[in-house]
Amino acid sequence: MSQELEIIRLRKELSEFSRRAFNRGLVSGTGGNLSVRIPGTDTALITPTGVCLGDIDPEINLLMKIDGTIIENPCGLKPSKETAFHLAVYQLRPEAGAVSHVHPPYATAYSNVVERLPMVTVSAQTVLKEVPRIESAMSGSTELYEYVKAGLRKYPSAKVLLMEEHGILAIAQDLKTSFYLSDLTEDTAKIAFIASQIKVN
Ligand SMILES: [Zn+2]
Repeated sequence: MSQELEIIRLRKELSEFSRRAFNRGLVSGTGGNLSVRIPGTDTALITPTGVCLGDIDPEINLLMKIDGTIIENPCGLKPSKETAFHLAVYQLRPEAGAVSHVHPPYATAYSNVVERLPMVTVSAQTVLKEVPRIESAMSGSTELYEYVKAGLRKYPSAKVLLMEEHGILAIAQDLKTSFYLSDLTEDTAKIAFIASQIKVN
C-alpha cells in the first residue's frame, strides 16, 4: 500500500476508535485524545483539540512529524493540547504505533488514591501486568509533558500508565490494541472498586 493510501486508511481508523472510546464511556465532553504513527515513519496522525472524540471525522485529524511540525491539516484545526506527550511516546518508544489518552471514571478515581492500579483479574495480570501511576499536571502544560517523559523512562515496560487526577495513557503497536488496553484498564478499575465494596459476613 502506498503511504498516501496508508494515511487515508489510518485517518478512518483514528476516527473509528475515537468514536468507540467516546461511545464506550472512556471520555466525556471534549476530553481525551488519540494518535497513530504512520508505520515505519517519524510521522503520526493526532486528533484535534476542542472536538469531542464522538465527533471525530477522518479528515479533521492532523498529520504531524514527531518533532511537532504540522504536515497536513485539511480542516485548519489546532492539534490536541496534549500533542506534546503523544509525540514524546513516539520519540522514547520506537516500537509504539498508537497512543490512547482517555479519562475513564473508575481508573481516574483510582489515580487519585493509589500508586498502582490493583491487578484484580487474571486478564489484568496477564495483559496489563502493571499500571503504575505517574504525576500529572494541567493539560497542555510543560510540566505534564515532563512528567510523562519521566514516567515512560521510569516504567519502560508498562503498556498503560495512570496519570494522577487526570486519566490514563495506553501505548500499543496499533490503535485497536491501545483501545483494548484502555477498555481493559477501566474494566479492571471498576471490578477492583466493586470488589472493595463487597462485604462478606
Ligand atoms: Zn487529558
